[in-house]
Amino acid sequence: MQWLGRRESSNVEDRRGMSGGTLLKGGGIVGVLVYLVSTFLGGGEIDPSKIPGLAAPSSQSAPLSPAEQSKDEERAKFVKVVLAETEDVWNEIFTASGNRYQEPTLVLFRDGVESACGSASSASGPFYCPGDAKLYVDLSFYQELQERFNVAGDFPMAYVVAHEVGHHIQNLMGTAEKVNRLRSQLSETEFNRYSVMMELQADFYAGVWANHTQKLKNNLDPGDIDEALNAANAIGDDNLQKQATGHITPDAFTHGTSAQRIYWFKKGYTTGDIKQGDTFNDPSLQ
Ligand SMILES: [Zn+2]
Repeated sequence: MQWLGRRESSNVEDRRGMSGGTLLKGGGIVGVLVYLVSTFLGGGEIDPSKIPGLAAPSSQSAPLSPAEQSKDEERAKFVKVVLAETEDVWNEIFTASGNRYQEPTLVLFRDGVESACGSASSASGPFYCPGDAKLYVDLSFYQELQERFNVAGDFPMAYVVAHEVGHHIQNLMGTAEKVNRLRSQLSETEFNRYSVMMELQADFYAGVWANHTQKLKNNLDPGDIDEALNAANAIGDDNLQKQATGHITPDAFTHGTSAQRIYWFKKGYTTGDIKQGDTFNDPSLQ
């Protein structure tokens, strides 16, 4: 993606230098009963907070070396530009339908963070909290994509930001609240199905963004879309579960399979039309 020298969003809270505060032992996110927290990664039964090796660091990680610091700074700039590009696209889409887009805030953090949805650690991966309309990103996830998921290039991180912004769109449209209300009425397995529909719609919105940003700015490089599809493939629930447990439990899927994540991102990208993203009534997901 072409991003150097482009506008960086000012809707950013940089908390990288701050301590995570009262991080709960074991990591993960607490407070999910109040708000539907939307993470980027699923995997169902492999909730990162339940895996000892992936639990939150009990103390802060080592300070960054100067080389790491400049890499971190470059990644921060990149996600700020991506956020700005999502603002331009969603402002245009909302305005075209006679609405006003309320821009979300991006919180950059390291190790741990406090949100209106509770405490979270880096182990949770990037997430969106509807309670404060903020996206939370620890830039170390950038590295995790490359090392743990073997996903190359810069565009996967753009997909991550666009996916979390997709959850913000669901928040603005009232979808998040509707699904959140179902939480207390459904069994976990039933609710997981709704979670999958939410997540795939966020992937779809990320694809819609990619379509529009290319039309508006001509800023995608050849290969960007393939990079995003590669990432979608790597982080499907079936793939994550197989890696973590050696088997697949479809009832525990919360984000969708690799094939589904690819399908919905691609559908958003090829149509660019938010009306095509009704995952809740799609026959393939019933
Ligand atoms: Zn998500």
